[in-house]
Amino acid sequence: MREQKVLGLLGGMSWTSTAEYYRLLNTLYAERRGGLHSAPLLLHSVDFAEVAAMQQAGDWDGAGQLLAGAARGLEQAGAGAILLATNTMHRVAGHIEQAVNIPLLHIVDGTAQAIRAAGIDRVGLVATAFTMEQEFYTGRLRDKFGIKVLVPGDEDRQEVHRIIYDELCRNDVRPESRETYRGVLAKLVERGGQGVILGCTEITLLVGPKDTTVPVFDTTWLHALAATDWLLDTTAYTDSD
Ligand code: GLU
Repeated sequence: MREQKVLGLLGGMSWTSTAEYYRLLNTLYAERRGGLHSAPLLLHSVDFAEVAAMQQAGDWDGAGQLLAGAARGLEQAGAGAILLATNTMHRVAGHIEQAVNIPLLHIVDGTAQAIRAAGIDRVGLVATAFTMEQEFYTGRLRDKFGIKVLVPGDEDRQEVHRIIYDELCRNDVRPESRETYRGVLAKLVERGGQGVILGCTEITLLVGPKDTTVPVFDTTWLHALAATDWLLDTTAYTDSD
């Protein structure tokens, strides 16, 4: 019998999306294995206020060290891979990868594979300002997967970002914010987006496939799917190249 794999879920960024990850990981695992099976995992949930303060201060090195320490703890406790349950903090993926000897299941990779499998290569992105504006995310999609990313204009980026931190991370889901996101997604489609990435793990709490006319790539779901594949030694996507 093969050894039971254990996933190291590094979450709390924010807790509202980590709760969704936990639900999805168990649902997907149970769907595949049936019966009373549930996903074997360890959770390290950080205090998001500390991380968010470092983001605002631009202290990515400090945040990277904090998350690297948490990842090391998960490895020592028996995790065989790390699932960092936030897009934004993949800004410090390198800190984590250097700190542990187990793989980090990068959130961009599972998302990009789903986009390529859908046969498209030009997508809109809604996410935190950090994710929409810094190279670590759009650069990986472009350079590693040949995917071109469209981001909203200045004012829309600010509002998309504000709704994440002021509302969704505080478990506050508002109909008027759903309307705002629908409008932003429509503009991305008008500009040529063949699909849209929900590139922040809380956005799935607000909008989904019904809120736009093009395919939606929900990073929370795709990341949980990639982790389930890792746990079960399966693959949801085969390389179309
Ligand atoms: N969970 C969000 C993301 O996927 C934002 C919170 C954070 O800054 O980590 O980017």
